[in-house]
Parts: sequence; C-alpha cells; structure tokens
Amino acid sequence: MRQLLLWCARNPWLASHVPRWRFAQRAVRRFLPGEGFDAALKAATHFKAQGVGALFTLLGENITDLEDAKRVVAHYEEVLAASTGLQAEISVKPTQLGLDIDAAAAYTNLDRLARAATQAKSYLWIDMEGSEYTERTLELYRRVRTAHPNVGIALQAYLHRTVSDVVELMALKPAIRLVKGAYAEPSTIAFAAKKEVDANYLALCVLMLPEVKQQRLRLVLATHDTDMVAKAWRFAQALGIERKQLEVAMLYGIRTDEQLRLAREGFGVRDLIAYGDAWYAWYLRRLAERPANVWFVARQLLP
Ligand SMILES: Cc1cc2nc3c(=O)[nH]c(=O)nc-3n(C[C@H](O)[C@H](O)[C@H](O)COP(=O)(O)OP(=O)(O)OC[C@H]3O[C@@H](n4cnc5c(N)ncnc54)[C@H](O)[C@@H]3O)c2cc1C
Repeated sequence: MRQLLLWCARNPWLASHVPRWRFAQRAVRRFLPGEGFDAALKAATHFKAQGVGALFTLLGENITDLEDAKRVVAHYEEVLAASTGLQAEISVKPTQLGLDIDAAAAYTNLDRLARAATQAKSYLWIDMEGSEYTERTLELYRRVRTAHPNVGIALQAYLHRTVSDVVELMALKPAIRLVKGAYAEPSTIAFAAKKEVDANYLALCVLMLPEVKQQRLRLVLATHDTDMVAKAWRFAQALGIERKQLEVAMLYGIRTDEQLRLAREGFGVRDLIAYGDAWYAWYLRRLAERPANVWFVARQLLP
C-alpha cells in the first residue's frame, strides 16, 4: 500500500486530476487548515496560545519556471514579516526554489530567504526530498550555513548515508531536523523495514544528543512517534539536557493531543503548518505514512 501510494504521488495524470475532486479536497482538510496563508496564520496563533510554535511551509515542489521560485521567495518574505510576534519558522523544498533547473539560482533564492529569516529573528529550514537530491541539498546547506547562522536541514533516518552526513555536518554547528523519511527509496541505499528505520533513528539521536548538550547542535525530532521521543528524552536526561532543549515537531492535524501534552510538559514543540493549493504529492505521502488514512479519504465519498 505504501509503495502504491508513493507511486500515485509521482503520477502526473493523477496529480492533475485528483486535486479537482471534491471528496479529495474535503479529505485533505484534515492536514491543512486551509489553502491560504491566512488560515495557516490563524492556526499558528491558536497554537501559540497553547505553547506550540509554528513552522510554515508553502506546498509546492519541482517547479519548472524560475519565476515561480522568485514568487516563492517573495511570499516567504511576506510570511516572515507577517508573523514576527509568533516566533514562527519556515521550511522550504530546494526543488521549489529551482534546484531542478539551476543550482546557482536555487542557492541565490535560499540565500535571500536565509537573510530574510535572520532579519526577522526567525529560522529557515531546508526540507529533504528524494535521494536524487540529497547530495545537492547538502551542498546547498553547507554553503548557506557558512554564510548564515539561522539555517537548518532535514535528514532522513531511513538512508544508510545519514550517519556519515551527520558526522560530516557537525563541524558547521548545524541545525538538524531528524525525520524518518517520506519517499520511495531502493533497499540499496535505504532501510526498508520500519524496525530498522526506527533503530537508526534512535542511534542517530544517541549520536547527536551529546552535541546538543554541548550547544554545538540544534536538534529537532520531527516525528509523531512519541515512544521514540520518550526514548530520546531518557537518554537526553542522562546527559543533563533540559526539556526545552529537546525540540519536537509534528505535522498539523496529526497527534495534536500529543503536541499539546509535550508542550505542557515543557518540551520545545512546533507544528508544521502546510498550506497552498499544490497539496497533491505532499498529501499522498501523508497517506503513505499511515495507509489507515485511506479509509478516512474513502469516507469522504459518502454523503
Ligand atoms: C515536522 C516534520 C517535518 C518533516 N519533514 C520531512 C522532510 O523534510 N523530508 C522527509 O522525507 N520527510 C519529512 N517528514 C515526514 C517523515 O519523514 C515521516 O514520513 C513522517 O513523519 C511519519 O513518520 P513518523 O516519524 O511520524 O513515525 P511513524 O512510525 O511512521 O509514526 C508514528 C505514529 O504516528 C502516527 N502517524 C504518523 N504519520 C501519520 C499520518 N500521516 N497520519 C496519521 N497518523 C500518523 C501514527 O499513529 C503512527 O503510529 C516530516 C515530518 C514532520 C513531522
């Protein structure tokens, strides 16, 4: 089911038709407060009152026109200006900034965003996409991190290479958002079994938490796996790390009760709020993470 859903995520015919179907539009509402930034801002304000920060992401990937990338940059500049009181952060996909077309232009766009994030005392996160982009995304990160302090990168625990990427990035005093990984990857480069991905996720936490203690790394555990967070926290406690130093991020609409609980307990919690009309591939990856969600979609077909 996971492979089928990830195949659907990449299928151009489905990508151009499904977003028009009313039941799909109704189903996606579970993971998006709305398509416009105003809805995202409203959701962020609501979360802020409950001690949960926001991470805004405008949906869209693999753009084919650099003018679109410029519009994305301009949009985020407005987002940063509009959300200063919220201490919100932003997260962007390199292919939304033009990485498929021109790596130099993608870097220029990223650099502009990093500058805007620094000015707004915010933070810019770089999403990690499929493995064909890993090396180029790391390259962008190394460059932009050298020039700007407020920039972080997502790394995927399902990739065999991630442990060496972590070790190599450490010299930059990086910010790392650790995720399990959302794309279809071959078993030659990625762990296939969930048990193996989970084991590697925990091993990477154990590797990185001492760096958090030394304040050489900002680490965000981007996962809904609260057992994993509890295991990481036990290790962090043994190292003398404070609760607010252990940051957790989850997606809007998923395990909201757990996000609020962790925030009440004093952990640093952020809700990734996605918005925009380019939700198709992103939404299919959310279904692939938990195929039981497909029944929720099917229910939207009922009157
Ligand atoms: C803040 C954030 C940023 C991310 N950024 C990236 C990125 O840049 N690149 C990337 O490849 N991936 C990214 N991801 C996705 C990530 O890789 C996983 O695919 C996703 O988080 C599901 O794995 P999990 O860690 O929640 O653990 P799992 O073990 O899959 O899930 C743990 C539990 O969480 C619940 N759950 C998980 N997913 C869902 C869902 N979709 N719907 C309902 N319940 C669910 C279930 O109860 C499940 O039992 C991001 C995830 C988050 C939270």
